[in-house]
Amino acid sequence: MQLSEFLANDTVKNEIYQAMRSGTLPHAIIIDGAKGTGKTTLAEIIARYCVCLSESNKPCGECSGCIKAVHNSHPDIYRADGNNVGELNVDSIRKIRSDVYIKPNEANTKVYLLLNCDKMLAPAQNAFLKVLEEPPANVVFIMTVTSANMMLQTVRSRSRIYSLYPVTVEQAAQEAAKKFPEKNYQEILKIAEMCDGNIGQTIQILESGGEEAKKLADEIFSAIPQKNEYLLLTLTSRLSISRTFASSVLDCMLENVSECIKAAAGIRTNVEFAEEIARRMTKKRIYRLAENTEKAKEILNTNVNLNFFGTWLCSVLRG
Ligand SMILES: [Zn+2]
Repeated sequence: MQLSEFLANDTVKNEIYQAMRSGTLPHAIIIDGAKGTGKTTLAEIIARYCVCLSESNKPCGECSGCIKAVHNSHPDIYRADGNNVGELNVDSIRKIRSDVYIKPNEANTKVYLLLNCDKMLAPAQNAFLKVLEEPPANVVFIMTVTSANMMLQTVRSRSRIYSLYPVTVEQAAQEAAKKFPEKNYQEILKIAEMCDGNIGQTIQILESGGEEAKKLADEIFSAIPQKNEYLLLTLTSRLSISRTFASSVLDCMLENVSECIKAAAGIRTNVEFAEEIARRMTKKRIYRLAENTEKAKEILNTNVNLNFFGTWLCSVLRG
């Protein structure tokens, strides 16, 4: 994929394009933006540019550098992902710190992709700062994070920040349609609308067969009888994708509530979580669950902050 194929975000693209053309790509780059805005895709394009062996039109997509990069087997592209335990902790940063001084194997530049730095804690960032202060030549660090504010000011001030924004609903739908040519375009458009033009999330819902709302509602109900607040909060915070999505999830939750009420009245439902809830919770609590789900729908119609809404929903579902 070429930089020009990356959707929208023209200001950022132009800036990177200029830097590539003039050979002034910053040695430390922070790409920030919400989940699904294409941070990793952009980071990978820059990484490929750095290891491409072609004279022009980098990344050419054809040279051995590009091909190895696409197959995640380029020896000069190092990847660490904060979502994998231990990959962005102090120890691994120290390893990177000694590794940066070893010359690249095949390319002219060594690239360190530090993905999902949301999970990179202050001690690790401080350890990283040492190499950012005096970076060796021919090394490029590319970090991705949902908000640059998650990075220490000292790290931010030594990096160039590129902020990505969701594309328009139509652009997101068109992009998703390329991946799912067999699907009805109007349906894809509806899902893209629900995700406020977030391509990654649109694709994720399409991959789950468009049943994401139902799936999430079922997961929430399976989590309610377990006493795991963290799990429940993780699930309810996923409602923050968009108001329309949250509303669909709540509709499915209301259907789940009636299954639970049936189960509590001794009617067999064949719905596993409903049977479990009927076994573990008193009728009074089940009715409260019904009331709170209704209430959640009302609250959603006010202009409530969606992140706050997820936390609130978690607390009333536990109660
Ligand atoms: Zn190439």
